[in-house]
Amino acid sequence: MTKTSTPDLGGSAEGHLTRLSAADLGAAISAGEITSEEITAACLDRIAATDDRVHAFLHVASEAALKRARAIDQSLAEGRSFGPLAGIPVALKDVFAQRGVPTTCGSRILADWRPPYDATVVRRLEDAGCVILGKTNLDEFAMGSSTEHSAFGPTRNPWDLTRVPGGSGGGSAAAVAAFQAPLAVGTDTGGSIRQPAAVTGTVGVKPTYGGVSRFGLVALASSLDQAGPCARTVLDAAMLHAALGGHDPLDSTSLPEPVPPVVEAARRADVRGMRIGLVRELQGDGYQPGVLRRFEEAVAVLTDLGARVTEVSCPHFEYALAAYYLILPSECSSNLARFDGMRFGLRVGDDGEATAERVMALTRAAGFGAEAKRRIMLGTYALSSGYYDQYYGQAQRVRTLIAQDFADAFEQVDVLVSPTTPTTAFELGEKVDDPVAMYLNDVATIPVNLAGNCAMSLPIGLADEDGLPVGFQIMAPAQADDRLYRVGGALEAALVDRWGHHLIEEAPQP
Ligand code: GLN
Repeated sequence: MTKTSTPDLGGSAEGHLTRLSAADLGAAISAGEITSEEITAACLDRIAATDDRVHAFLHVASEAALKRARAIDQSLAEGRSFGPLAGIPVALKDVFAQRGVPTTCGSRILADWRPPYDATVVRRLEDAGCVILGKTNLDEFAMGSSTEHSAFGPTRNPWDLTRVPGGSGGGSAAAVAAFQAPLAVGTDTGGSIRQPAAVTGTVGVKPTYGGVSRFGLVALASSLDQAGPCARTVLDAAMLHAALGGHDPLDSTSLPEPVPPVVEAARRADVRGMRIGLVRELQGDGYQPGVLRRFEEAVAVLTDLGARVTEVSCPHFEYALAAYYLILPSECSSNLARFDGMRFGLRVGDDGEATAERVMALTRAAGFGAEAKRRIMLGTYALSSGYYDQYYGQAQRVRTLIAQDFADAFEQVDVLVSPTTPTTAFELGEKVDDPVAMYLNDVATIPVNLAGNCAMSLPIGLADEDGLPVGFQIMAPAQADDRLYRVGGALEAALVDRWGHHLIEEAPQP
């Protein structure tokens, strides 16, 4: 079996730059074969040609991106070295502050806000020599699993434009899947990087909590939020992860340790002797048969590659969704209190006579969508005196039990695996009016956020029923992110070897 952790994404023969992996583009730039300006222009052309249908972007920074690409080309010509991602275009979920650039969080309440500062993630992309293409669509303040809760209209799944691209980071995943950008940055509070990756046939990673700085990331639920990479290959995700991660004194929750050796792990891509645990509670009832079939095949591939696979029980995972939907609304009701029309963003009803309270009420009523309001109300209730211990306190105790389940499991195995999502991409409109049906998409991704450890989703094939991508989730202990890349890299290489190409190449392009 030939092991290639940089699968050929096809199209290189046609010179179609947008189809190349970031690793290949980076190598071509350093070899002087292509320029960042050419790649950036190709991505912008692709966005212009497809985004009226996909709607992955809320803001395309065409001029700034081309200017930046030319500056990078110039610096490289002068001998400056940035690292392997120099000159590579990246799309940014519109929840990161970027100086002078619209930062909406998918909400009317921030529709015209241009931050006066940069998120650390933006700084790190700049240090790596990346070119930011623009800001991608999301469910309002990153709450949702379909991108339909964006105030600016939904994103569509490039595999089937009648389907959702997942959420909340559907824009980032769709941009990568539609070959508009080789890389994107997302955030994952309960699955918003991994679930969109799963349903768009892309790779997404939630790093260990604290592994990537949250400075300048508009907070949803501060004890859960984590920024991470979206890509088409495991190696590309590792390269972006390495560029984004590491300690940041501006974020008090940032880990002091360096990023684990994720790029080396993606390249090594060897699972011989690794102990892999199938989570009993994350399969079976409620999972689409075609998802389970691809999952079982992928597990068989890992066994063939020399991994030792066993089944592991995590008995408290069944309460994860309930605990999450108390903890997240509680934290979000507090975090979103700052959007009150007083300091920045939308202001409604300020006729010179209205009280501050009235302006705040009118602003919030007009500025937030239904899902944001639902969670603010739920969270305010769960935190109110008399109910605090019954709801929020109880959810926190469940959270401890889930973390203990992981700790017990990781005494027996090196990584845990499951399908990333119970189903493939659903139809637009199918679940938008049924919050519980929407929340159930996150049943397999949420435990990791509650425990603060790390996980990856990568594509493992198409479901027989609908021909749509299926995602495979790998979960590892906190600060063992490199294990995700070792297992993901090995599985990807074996599947690419079997199919003769990377799955994303089968995506019918819009
Ligand atoms: N879909 C989940 C939610 O609605 C996850 C959100 C996220 O990860 N940002 O809360």
